[in-house]
Amino acid sequence: MNKPIKQHLIDPEICIRCYTCEMSCPVGAIEHNDDNVVINADSCDLCMACIPVCPTGSIDEWRVVNKPYSLESQYEWEELPEQEDLGQDEAATGLEALDDAMAALLADAHKGAGGKAKAPASAAKPTINMYNLGHPATATVQGNFKLTDDPKHDVRHIILDMGSLPFPILEGQSVGVIPPGTDTEGKPHLPRLYSVSSPRDGERPNFNNISLTVKREDNGLCSNYVCNLEKGDSVQVTGPFGATFLMPSDPDARLLMICTGTGAAPMRSFTMRRQRTIGENSGGMTIFFGARSPESLPYFGPLSKVPPALLEQHLVYSRHGEKEYVQDRILAEYEKVSELLADPKTHIYICGLRGMEEGVDRAFSTIAESGGEQWAAMRDVMREDGRYHVETY
Ligand code: NAP
Repeated sequence: MNKPIKQHLIDPEICIRCYTCEMSCPVGAIEHNDDNVVINADSCDLCMACIPVCPTGSIDEWRVVNKPYSLESQYEWEELPEQEDLGQDEAATGLEALDDAMAALLADAHKGAGGKAKAPASAAKPTINMYNLGHPATATVQGNFKLTDDPKHDVRHIILDMGSLPFPILEGQSVGVIPPGTDTEGKPHLPRLYSVSSPRDGERPNFNNISLTVKREDNGLCSNYVCNLEKGDSVQVTGPFGATFLMPSDPDARLLMICTGTGAAPMRSFTMRRQRTIGENSGGMTIFFGARSPESLPYFGPLSKVPPALLEQHLVYSRHGEKEYVQDRILAEYEKVSELLADPKTHIYICGLRGMEEGVDRAFSTIAESGGEQWAAMRDVMREDGRYHVETY
């Protein structure tokens, strides 16, 4: 009988195919095909380098197996298999029986705000992975609008018409855009992921269209392609992706949204969804939104028209007046945030620059501790309840 091993796997239902894990694996153990991203049990040395870089926690899956799942079988999966019953004795050596060294590595990889995500209990069921690398959807550009006045900070609002193709999307989900052409090895480019910034019933209500919020990056292959798109152009799209960064349907849920730059995309979709449905008769929404200046803050103009009763706004600037980051304003709004953190109806969403995660986590720690609570424990409860969501890149 083979000795049971702990096999590292990826949950295909939650993975958003950003391929960050594949790019960060030092031993080349992670690969993909048109459908799934998979881990080779023969070459994975359980170094955990891929764990903290995964934006969804879909990579944090482990099964104790007598015979590892092959790459071929992982490519076939639409969902992760349950832990097999290995029998009484083997089960005792099972998931809990991580050896100390591996447990320590994993604990280290779990530090910070990352970790395995769960969808809100009342969220609608998302459709995922309808279109993939081998079978992308072809969308038509309906519009490309500049969102920022800062000439050095070009952020675009791109509207894609999905035509007659079914493309069910929920707020908080992402899509992939495949840039045309091939890489230096002659292989087609991998899709780049963008959060959708429109609500489920379309950028324009009841139209089969979606919007993206994309910043032009210096030498960015896909961002320049997308930012240069013109009305009528065809674009290859994959997705939808993401099964956890979703908004609760519960109207009483209170949304605490923290974002930087283009990380505002899902927050826009949440706000529009509530604006078009329950409006101000909801638990309320609060946003902490960081940008360099008003001129580089995406949707600055439209945001000024959103009523405070629907969305309480804290727009903070790092290069306009006194330097301020979102975490500074969270601390300054101590009473408000403390009350929100204590409310079991509160859902937290963090999206944008990876660097902000640590600062926001520290601000929450300070606020929780001054109320006699431990933030790490509160965060674990929120995450387990599907009320804590992070997507940072
Ligand atoms: P940006 O303009 O470069 O930065 C936005 C603001 O964040 C600036 O005021 C910046 O300040 C500030 N900032 C920098 N470091 C920070 C830190 N450690 N803590 C708090 N604030 C900090 O942003 P951007 O270029 O739009 O980039 C947004 C990021 O979000 C990109 O990395 C993008 O990939 C990511 N994104 C993720 C998703 C997603 O996860 N689904 C969706 C959209 C975008 P200074 O520059 O003045 O220091």
